[in-house]
Amino acid sequence: MTTTAPRLLQVRRSVRITPRMVRVTLHGDELAGFPGEGPDRRIKMFFPVAGQERPAVPRATSGGPLWPPGEARPTIRTYTVRRFDAGAGELDVDFVLHHGHGPAAAWARDAEPGAWVGVSEPGGRYEPDGAAQHHLVIGDETALPAVATVLDALPRGVPAHAYLEVEDAGEEQELPGNAEIHWVHRGDRPPGEPLAEAVRAAELPRGRGQAWLSGESGCVKDLRLHLLGERGFDRRAVYATGYWRAR
Ligand SMILES: Cc1cc2nc3c(=O)[nH]c(=O)nc-3n(C[C@H](O)[C@H](O)[C@H](O)COP(=O)(O)OP(=O)(O)OC[C@H]3O[C@@H](n4cnc5c(N)ncnc54)[C@H](O)[C@@H]3O)c2cc1C
Repeated sequence: MTTTAPRLLQVRRSVRITPRMVRVTLHGDELAGFPGEGPDRRIKMFFPVAGQERPAVPRATSGGPLWPPGEARPTIRTYTVRRFDAGAGELDVDFVLHHGHGPAAAWARDAEPGAWVGVSEPGGRYEPDGAAQHHLVIGDETALPAVATVLDALPRGVPAHAYLEVEDAGEEQELPGNAEIHWVHRGDRPPGEPLAEAVRAAELPRGRGQAWLSGESGCVKDLRLHLLGERGFDRRAVYATGYWRAR
């Protein structure tokens, strides 16, 4: 296997960490050498489709990815490395059991020990800027796994604020680092609306800031423009990614 072929891993255990978030711990021989360290590491996950025990995954060849002939292609979605522990040989991925009922969320809800899934090499370019005078972290529940790794990586002693939208108080989580956390509860409102409102009303520290934001795509786009246009953030200091799209 070359380093760019997805690794086939198995579920070791799964735990509900809040009513609507499940942590799936993966393991397997192919996890050896996984470069999963660092904040905001994104992976493509390959889920088996109906009738398959293991997902079909491509082999990396010099001519590009080569799929096994005659096998149905997997469902592919993007997730975050919540924790990688090389010593324990474990990779944690936290899945939101969202109301949209997609195949990835359904797989995570039902994942039993031994279930197979494919995982790509991690990507992601975010690194905290050691010269920033304050940090701003914004996200919804799909972003919480990445937010946790970002908050953990921020320099201590520099002011940091996190604005995080979840459905209700039951979805709040313990987070690492020393940022001031502002939880925003969505309730029955459209996703992203309460978050955008809270960020617009926020009192932010003065000086050159760095921002990380992810969540519902429309909200991320809107807030990115707000940070650039009305809050004076430098374009290169705003790291924004739409994670999913409300329909
Ligand atoms: C870089 C990156 C990192 C990500 N990391 C994580 C992560 O660590 N954990 C995580 O849970 N998600 C994460 N996501 C988001 C995840 O990829 C999407 O939520 C994805 O659509 C889920 O796939 P699915 O098969 O469950 O649903 P899909 O088949 O993609 O969608 C089915 C329906 O559900 C709706 N839907 C999808 N997500 C949500 C949601 N959160 N709330 C309400 N409705 C939704 C869609 O609009 C659609 O109508 C990440 C996305 C990106 C781009």
